[in-house]
Amino acid sequence: MSRPALVAAERRRTRRINVGNVPVGDGAPISVQSMTTTKTADVDGTLAQIYALAAAGADIVRCTCNEAAAAEGLAHIVPRSPVPIVADVHFHYEMALGALEAGVQGLRLNPGNLRKASEIKLVASEAKARGVPIRIGVNAGSLHPEVAARHGGATPEALVESAKIELAYFQEVDFDDVKISVKASSVPLMIAAYRLASETFDHPLHLGVTEAGPPPAGLVKGTAGIATLLAEGIGDTIRYSLTADPVEEARAGRQLLEALGLAERRGVDLIACPSCGRAEIDVIGVAKAAQAALEAREIPLQVAVMGCVVNGPGEARQADLGIAAGKKRGHLFIKGKIVRVVPEDQMVEALVAEAERLVAEGVEARLAAADEGAEAAAEADRAELLGSKGTDANRSLQRVELVRKTVRGDAEAG
Ligand code: SF4
Repeated sequence: MSRPALVAAERRRTRRINVGNVPVGDGAPISVQSMTTTKTADVDGTLAQIYALAAAGADIVRCTCNEAAAAEGLAHIVPRSPVPIVADVHFHYEMALGALEAGVQGLRLNPGNLRKASEIKLVASEAKARGVPIRIGVNAGSLHPEVAARHGGATPEALVESAKIELAYFQEVDFDDVKISVKASSVPLMIAAYRLASETFDHPLHLGVTEAGPPPAGLVKGTAGIATLLAEGIGDTIRYSLTADPVEEARAGRQLLEALGLAERRGVDLIACPSCGRAEIDVIGVAKAAQAALEAREIPLQVAVMGCVVNGPGEARQADLGIAAGKKRGHLFIKGKIVRVVPEDQMVEALVAEAERLVAEGVEARLAAADEGAEAAAEADRAELLGSKGTDANRSLQRVELVRKTVRGDAEAG
């Protein structure tokens, strides 16, 4: 049940690094990242969150390494984690060295707040000795003050220069196992910075809109920035930065890649009509119930929930499976063909059961198993609805007539 993939500009060629067993760059599948919100010293709590993030779609998880207890925690977390762990380090190079000793598969350094050349080079040398890649994680909000001053603030050029300076330190110790991010909370700035970074470096790029805030605005900002760049062929790994449970970040990252056709679909793709005056059910309620039930079962189908039988199956013909509400009955359809008519209060149940069978048996088999007479029963419902509501369920024509009369009346009175 393949879908057309995003027709992106040719993906920019970058070199390959490996974060543990996850390849990044050089055409590797785009990976999803997220970050734990627990204290890293809380080993069990952090591991529980890492497992939840991995289940939601994270390929790589970052944990803060801000104190000695966090570095010690990493020593227990890394061997038990289902995905590679990256230690996030700010200010203290000793924490980076501690994280390397703990066995992390990646480091993230912020050049804005880890500034001593000798310390940066020492960390890079130790990472090189262990074959551990480093992300140069530049942030507009914590840019190196001298770089910001030179450019009159956090411009795309300033963000890229900051990464260049860090990279030059790394190259002094012959370390090039690097990915780069140039994040900003401003979407236009972030897009411009990554475009410039893509022209400047051949290292893999980690995309993100930083401090995007809570959903839904945070999701919109993250998607605007990340999807724009992915469509231009820029980006090798992504992270949504949401003020929310990080599971939402991982899920959003995964869903974005699936929506763009850049990752194989693992879960349901639910499409639902926006509802209108013709709707025979609470479309939002049924769509949410269906989404929850299908998501829980990780069913990789495109499933439609349509508010009425008049246009529903036709409009959602491309869906693998769908249901449209009729007069007290739901019309279950596969690829636009009605296969069953079910009581309205069993719509979600019937949809989920058919989805499971469809995955197990395939489209042809399920079409062959269609109830005899389902098409005719559906057509009768449809005809009855058209008869009772006509083709103008929203009473638009009636309203237009009233508007005309009112306007004419006003005009005459004036
Ligand atoms: S016409 Fe039917 S399927 Fe289309 S939006 Fe209205 S209720 Fe939904």
